[in-house]
Amino acid sequence: MIQLKGVGFRYPSIKETGAEERVLSNIDLTVDQGEYLAVMGPNGSGKSTMARLFNGLLLPTEGEITVDGLNPRKLEEVWEIRRRVGMVFQNPDNQIVATTVLDDIAFGLENRGVSRDEMVERIQDAIARVGLTGLEKAAPHHLSGGQKQRLAIAGILAMRPSVIIFDEATSMLDPVGRREVIAAMKTLHQEGTTVIHITHSADEALHAERLIVMVEGQIQREGTPLQIFSKPEKLIEDALEVPLFIDLRERLRRQGMSLSQHSANSEELVEELWGLLSKG
Ligand code: ADP
Ligand code: MG
Repeated sequence: MIQLKGVGFRYPSIKETGAEERVLSNIDLTVDQGEYLAVMGPNGSGKSTMARLFNGLLLPTEGEITVDGLNPRKLEEVWEIRRRVGMVFQNPDNQIVATTVLDDIAFGLENRGVSRDEMVERIQDAIARVGLTGLEKAAPHHLSGGQKQRLAIAGILAMRPSVIIFDEATSMLDPVGRREVIAAMKTLHQEGTTVIHITHSADEALHAERLIVMVEGQIQREGTPLQIFSKPEKLIEDALEVPLFIDLRERLRRQGMSLSQHSANSEELVEELWGLLSKG
């Protein structure tokens, strides 16, 4: 779906010195069609820059990238890349463009040569898929944070994308809003959309099939979230938060308890602990 080979990126310098700072280097990465990928890493590690490369907003200054076989260096292909790769950003309020839910979703479809009938069908389908049915006439600024982010997702869905990137799209939401958006991500993934979730939350990253950890513009670790979180020493170094049950499990292991590293959630850890305790 998305393929990066030896990709590097520098922003053009704004300083007098002309020295350009390289913010990404040597990125080799393949994101498969239909994959659910999480991306973590400290602030400034290059996550958002990489997301902008994925959807053709930026071009690599070194190496090559293809998206669905399309080359962002070709002007006629970059627009198609931007249609196929949608992005949901951090601030729910900044993504609202119209005064009703319906118009907000329609906005992106206008001037795209989509017929009236098809527009109506796509909008209804998008609204249903994010669970906003009944709120078509509502004013977006009256919605909750989670609803606003789901509205942003609906606007992207109406464009029939292959990939949706969530760039810290849950970080400004309350716990209810976060759950709503994570649930939407899971549904999208089940329906075959490629989901890329940039997040600071280890608990959220656990939902993904694969996790990459970025440090200083490079991919430092790659694997399933459970594999990566179960090696905590390295993660502390990378300043990443670890899910509570894994933190607890690894501390108990270090204290000599014969726990496995198989538990995938707190329930499984508790079950294993009960097993050990009942053996005495
Ligand atoms: P992250 O999303 O992981 O926090 P970013 O991709 O936003 O990281 O930023 C990576 C680096 O690129 C940072 O050092 C940041 O200051 C720099 N940077 C980001 N956007 C720009 C820009 N538009 N112009 C110049 N430098 C930028
Ligand atoms: Mg960012």
